[in-house]
Amino acid sequence: MTRMLLMGPPGSGKGTQATRIADKLGIVAVSTGDIFRHNVKNMTELGKEAKRYMDAGDFVPDEVTNRMVADRLSQSDAETGFLLDGYPRTAGQVDALDAMLKDTGQALSAVVELEVPDAELVARLLKRAEIEGRADDTEEVIQHRLDLYHRETESVIESYAERGIVARVDGTGQIDDVTERVLQSVYSVRAATGTLPIITPDTQA
Ligand code: AMP
Repeated sequence: MTRMLLMGPPGSGKGTQATRIADKLGIVAVSTGDIFRHNVKNMTELGKEAKRYMDAGDFVPDEVTNRMVADRLSQSDAETGFLLDGYPRTAGQVDALDAMLKDTGQALSAVVELEVPDAELVARLLKRAEIEGRADDTEEVIQHRLDLYHRETESVIESYAERGIVARVDGTGQIDDVTERVLQSVYSVRAATGTLPIITPDTQA
């Protein structure tokens, strides 16, 4: 069973890779950005609350985000593993996720960070702005989201690195190649930390 985090700056291809990796591993992909966008589109209370932060490229407050993730992870399809895309992004969210997992006696298998140089990220996001027209893909907001990533989320990754479960993966190049690299890195972390499922003749079928 895999419980993993896919981290990476905006524009690193997290969303694309998240669904591909989750499919390959047979687990559910949970994207906080997608859940927020869905709520904004449907004008729910949560959406109304999140929208102003999202439009400005700011983080939605931890309290709101943590509650939403706790609710999502308590659903039955997350019982057999999950891939979190875009969460946690702050130290407070790391603590909240630790508490959620502790409650159910679960542990994270791996944390993968997609690495892409800033200049390529900005170019990718401006191109996405033309195609998808996302409200938070303007040049100014893009820069702010990148700054936030460097300022807050990189230290989140550091805190997981201290636990020995982080793999940093080159996020440039062909989509298929990146997927392969991520899968390989999850396997390597799990082999190194001894969390690979034990294959016995009974379970091999
Ligand atoms: P994303 O698509 O992952 O870049 O997320 C889009 C926006 O949703 C972010 O810029 C934030 O405003 C909000 N968001 C997504 N995930 C989180 C999170 N873990 N904590 C706070 N805000 C988030």
